[in-house]
Amino acid sequence: MALREIRELGDEVLRKKAKEVKILTPRLKELIGDMFDTMYAANGVGLAAPQVGILRRIVVIDCGDNPITLINPVIVEKDGQQIGEEGCLSVPGKVGVVERAMHCRVRAKNADMQDFEVEGEGLLARCLQHEIDHLDGKMYVDIATEMRDVTAESEDEEQEETQEE
Ligand code: ZN
Repeated sequence: MALREIRELGDEVLRKKAKEVKILTPRLKELIGDMFDTMYAANGVGLAAPQVGILRRIVVIDCGDNPITLINPVIVEKDGQQIGEEGCLSVPGKVGVVERAMHCRVRAKNADMQDFEVEGEGLLARCLQHEIDHLDGKMYVDIATEMRDVTAESEDEEQEETQEE
């Protein structure tokens, strides 16, 4: 396992559509492990493969309760509305206000390529929508309002309400 370089806004790989995973090769399994390591090292709650330069439909998420691996995730249901700040490991030092569905249900394959569903509410729902957007080259900055800088000094206070994804 190793840390991967997180690509930042402006890197064209972040704007490309990621390809579906048909076979989970040893290389992709290693990638998933590295993605978790990279996400935790950066204090993030989610990371999509394009963010480390790999155009595959793989997402890892840990909103604090449990680590989730999603391969070829598809949102099959979403409803409600939430408006709140979000950040992105590919857009360091910034947050913006984004409107998302309050609840969503996602169908995906797990790290054993078995079908499963995950249902999210609040932060988890926000995180799922944000990360799945990355697989289609979409970034939250495209839809965010009130973008602002989060300086190193105020980061500690921000931690409570702002999660980097
Ligand atoms: Zn992101």
